[in-house]
Amino acid sequence: MKHLIANWKMNFLNFDEWLKDFDHNNISEEIQIVICPNYLEIKYICKTLPKTHKKILIGAQNLSSEIEGPFTGQISGRMLRKIGASHSIVGHSESRLLGEDDETIANKMNTALECELTPILCIGENQEEYSKGSTEKKLKHQLTENLLPIQNLSGNILIAYEPIYAIGSGIAVQKEHLKEVSLLIKNFVRDNLATDLTVIYGGSVTSESAIDLAKVDGIDGFLVGNASLDPKEFANIALSLER
Ligand code: PEP
Repeated sequence: MKHLIANWKMNFLNFDEWLKDFDHNNISEEIQIVICPNYLEIKYICKTLPKTHKKILIGAQNLSSEIEGPFTGQISGRMLRKIGASHSIVGHSESRLLGEDDETIANKMNTALECELTPILCIGENQEEYSKGSTEKKLKHQLTENLLPIQNLSGNILIAYEPIYAIGSGIAVQKEHLKEVSLLIKNFVRDNLATDLTVIYGGSVTSESAIDLAKVDGIDGFLVGNASLDPKEFANIALSLER
């Protein structure tokens, strides 16, 4: 099974128009597509998604680390589940930038699993860390802090490797770097959690860059920002995962 996640961020997008132009017919059943719109659209999209689009699931872009209570402005994983979401992005670099720390992210991972949502944990180094050769140190730190405190590993978890310098830059990472990182993540997970988790890549994926990136060992899908706003481009990225 391959995974293709669309992160629509805070963009204004008409879902009905998008869906009209998203040709899902040629996309294999082996590709699980998850669309993460803004919170306000989740219920409508879950309700109106035609039954013919079985391959498409809906996710949130974040969730509260708490399930219920006096947490003004927060959205509970249980609420998301109730309106039809099945996934949630956790620890996106744009959320980390706004002050989400590692402990909060670990709590969100646990909360997502408790609410029966599949968390998509985003990790990745910044440009300075990459240039200094500290990618491994940064990723191991994030995996230790965000993943090891998980209490119940029985649910599904996706790990999205998203180097910060590749997000929105128009330049995806080099295949060789991606191969090394996917191996590093997989080995860390196997050594520390005695299990295998799916690793996907995010950062300026387009239908063009996807062709090569999809061939990298250990990468089983993509998290796509900008290019997912264009339904034709997004469908082409899905097709590249089949090759
Ligand atoms: C992202 O923000 O998760 C992302 C991958 O964005 P983009 O594809 O636009 O680089």
